[in-house]
Amino acid sequence: MVSIKNSRELRGMKEACVISARALQLAGEAIQPGVTTGEVDRVVRKYIESQGATPSFLGYGGFPASACISVNDEVIHGIPGKRVIHAGDIVSVDVGAYYNGFHGDNAYTFAAGEISPEAQALLDATRESLYEGIRAAAAGNRIGDIGAAVQRYVEVRGYSVVRQYVGHGVGTNLHEDPSVPNFGTPGRGPRLLPGMTIAIEPMINAGTCEVDTQRDGWTVTTRDGKWSAHFEHTIAITADGPVILTLP
Ligand code: MG
Repeated sequence: MVSIKNSRELRGMKEACVISARALQLAGEAIQPGVTTGEVDRVVRKYIESQGATPSFLGYGGFPASACISVNDEVIHGIPGKRVIHAGDIVSVDVGAYYNGFHGDNAYTFAAGEISPEAQALLDATRESLYEGIRAAAAGNRIGDIGAAVQRYVEVRGYSVVRQYVGHGVGTNLHEDPSVPNFGTPGRGPRLLPGMTIAIEPMINAGTCEVDTQRDGWTVTTRDGKWSAHFEHTIAITADGPVILTLP
């Protein structure tokens, strides 16, 4: 069921989203060559808890950390740990915070030190495709308009859209209806109504869209080993247009 938030609920969403966004920003500042993904996760957890909030992902479905940290060919759901980040790596961090009954959810792919022009182009295209998707999220449009905008932007640049994982409604639960695919047909799918809050999160691969889950049961990687990027915002659909909630 799609939930429509009133103005009080939207203020609650904003608070959770600001904490999520600030945690993501701190993760980005912590990502340096030589640092482990586990150290980045600890920065995230410490900040979220210092705000009186709870990391949304910690224990979610049994996930053992506060942030999903996915490096290079890892698409999403990477488990932070002893892996050392090297110069040239791209590091996707996905972070949610639960505060006063609401979740915020956002992600960003950071560059560690100097990265290749190819990697930078992937990051730029994925980030821009998120904003294309957000611009399509006008009240009265449909879910398919969002996915079509993302897909159009990246496919003409030679990238592929992951099909198996999608964005989602977000609110009192981390994952709510509707599903928000990063591919689709304009004019199709559920209608976007003021008061809906959704997470748009393109996962874009440099090569094939096919992905596999690793033996740890979580980490999703590209089948061909080429790199992947992931950017996400939680937004509110309003009569005045889409509003990004996950800003620090
Ligand atoms: Mg999400």
